This record gives sequence, structure tokens and C-alpha cells, in this order.
Amino acid sequence: MFKINENYLKLPGSYLFSTIAKKVNEFQAANPEKSVIRLGIGDVTQPLAPVIIDALHGAVDEMGKAETFHGYAPDLGYEFLRTAIAKNDYADRGCDIAADEIFVSDGAKCDSGNIQEIFSVDNKIAVCDPVYPVYVDTNVMAGRTGTYDSKTEMWSDVIYMPCTAENNFAPELPKETPDMIYLCFPNNPTGATITKDQLQVWVDYANKVGAVIIYDAAYEAYISEPDVPHTIFECEGARTCAIELKSFSKNAGFTGTRLGYTVIPKDLKCGDVMLHSLWARRHGTKYNGAPYIQQRAGEAVYSPEGKEQLAKQVAYYMNNAKVIKEGLQEAGYTVSGGVNAPYIWLKTPGTMTSWEFFDYLLANANVVGTPGSGFGPSGEGYFRLTAFGTYENTVAALERIKKM
Ligand SMILES: *Cc1c(COP(=O)(O)O)cnc(C)c1O
Repeated sequence: MFKINENYLKLPGSYLFSTIAKKVNEFQAANPEKSVIRLGIGDVTQPLAPVIIDALHGAVDEMGKAETFHGYAPDLGYEFLRTAIAKNDYADRGCDIAADEIFVSDGAKCDSGNIQEIFSVDNKIAVCDPVYPVYVDTNVMAGRTGTYDSKTEMWSDVIYMPCTAENNFAPELPKETPDMIYLCFPNNPTGATITKDQLQVWVDYANKVGAVIIYDAAYEAYISEPDVPHTIFECEGARTCAIELKSFSKNAGFTGTRLGYTVIPKDLKCGDVMLHSLWARRHGTKYNGAPYIQQRAGEAVYSPEGKEQLAKQVAYYMNNAKVIKEGLQEAGYTVSGGVNAPYIWLKTPGTMTSWEFFDYLLANANVVGTPGSGFGPSGEGYFRLTAFGTYENTVAALERIKKM
């Protein structure tokens, strides 16, 4: 008789987005005349930029001719894209990352979930709290997290690093030494960032204790302040302790198109084993490469027109972020994020829990957001609004919130 991976049974149901959908549907059924505005989504809404559509069309046409047809892509990505990434995202920022240290993939969610496979099940992970759920859940599936306590909503073998208003949403070095440290800056869900000096402290710490940092930079394009690092490889010594995950989803609207990449420097070693070799082996065995069509579209992101068009798209969302942040401040809320990230993180008023505020906002402003407690116990008492809606909806939502 076959047996299942019992680790899956340990996962507490993630009811966050299904509960939100259920509550919104119930509200809409009871109030059919009300128009509900959704500022809860973590998905983009603007269409792909013209330069990307052109690249996609061009690549599709190539696929239709024998001379330019492309079959399986190279496992690790086409040279044209890896070279463009190495130049634009690293060399141009003074960072020493070679094209062959870049692994092209179909997105950062898969990579952030899969990367734990190349590490021992005995490793201890440290995560921010609140956190993007993928990091913890994939380690649960691998059997790395111990047992779940439904009261504290914590795993016995996970090191939680609370990120709250008290520490300006920046994690402090953990008391217990981790083997793998997940960091995401600019952060989802809090919208917070850390400075280059603060990140340097983490890099020095990881090198000192022999830990690896898995750095999720999915929101890099939203950075507007000068002292915020665009990549962990701006920090001295990151080549011996860091893996970086990047995505084309949030900077270029590829959430439905799918493209991302992971950087593993060849200097990152356990004894004399390069993690680069293990990930290359994993990619080669389990992955047949991101589609040619998408990789051509990814290349267009780095063209001069691409950069210009995408900067406008990011500016569009960041203008929404400003509308949300300033609107909430005018209405008397305590707000953070929204400056280097498309997420606004607000403190729920008084003693309201995250879910109580969800219900209150839905009932009184017909606006949907995401309860902070859904991202981890330290998210309780907070609430996330996203700047990924349309400008019109964002303005309308804030008008309603101000009238509550
Ligand atoms: C959106 C997001 C990603 C990107 O995922 P893709 O699979 O590339 O679409 C990665 N990390 C975080 C924290 C995100 O919010």
C-alpha cells in the first residue's frame, strides 16, 4: 500500500484568501447594489507594456518558422537573457555576478519553494513574522519545521523574527542561530525595507555563523529611496552567503506570463560543495527551461523602451500607494510601507483585530483588504492594502474610507 508524504497533513489550512472570498461573496449577495472595491489582491492589473507585447509577438512568429523555431530551452536559461540580467541588474549596479550564476525560471514563487530541496532536512530556518507563506509551507512539506501549535500559530522548529512597529518592521538578529534565513525586501506584506547598512549586518552575521540567506527581491523595482539596496549583492561578502530570487511579475506585469530567476554565486559553498552545482543539477533534472517566448519578452524588459515603459507602470502603482497612504493618514490611521513597495500596512484602530477590521471595512466602505494576521501571528492588529488596483478604484476606496 502506498504511503503519502505525511508532512502535507501537518499544514494548517490556509484559509486566508478563501475566507476573504467567502466573506466578500456573502456581503455582495446580501448587498447587491453596493460596489465592492478590492485592494486586497497581490496581483497586477495594468496590461503588459507595448514593448513586451511586441517581443512576445515577434517570438511567436519565430516559433512558426523552421529556421527560427525553438524547442527545449537551455535548462538554465538563454544566454541573451542571462547576459541582459547580469549587465542590467548586477554589473550596472557595481555587483559582481556572472551570467552563468543566473538561473532563469518560471517565477520566484516556484524558486522560493523549491530552493529548500538542496539543503539538509536538519537545517533550521528563520523567517520574518509576518511572512510570505511560501517559505514556511514548503519547509513544512519537506519535514523541516517540527510540530505546529495552533494556539501560537507557530512551528516548533522555526525561528520567528517579529517585524512590528516596535522595530520599524525590520527583523533583529535571532537569539538562536539559524542555518537558513529567509529575507524579503522590499517586504510583502509590510511594505517595509531595510537600508544597505542594515542588510550588511545580516550578510556579516550569515558569514559569521555559516548560514545562507535566501533573499527575495521581487519588489526591487519599487524602491524609491537612495539608501535601499536593489540586490543583496551590493553588500560586501554576499557572494559567500546569499541566494537571490527575482521575478518579472511585479516590475513588468508577468504574473500571468511567468518568468523569474535565481542567482547562486559560485563562491557559496558548504565545505567544498558549491550550491550552484546542486541547483544546476536540480534544474537539469527537474526543469526543461522557461519558454523561449517568455524569455524574449524578459529581454525586452531591459531594452531602453522597456525600461521607460515599465518605469511608468511602476510609477502608476506607486501613485496609488501615495493616494492610499496619504488618504489613510488624513483619516487618522497609523500607516507604514507604500514608499519602496506597493503595499500599505496599517495599524487597525483601537483594539480591533485584523479580521474585525476586515469586516468593518467591508461593511462600511465596501473595500476589501487583507488581514495582517493571515501572514503570521505578529501581523495581528495590522492590515494590508495594495496599490495594484486601478487609480480610479483606489481614489474611490479612499474617499469611502475617509467618510467611515
Ligand atoms: C509576488 C511575489 C513573488 C513573485 O512570484 P512569481 O512566482 O515570480 O510571480 C515572489 N515573492 C514574493 C514575496 C511575492 O510577493
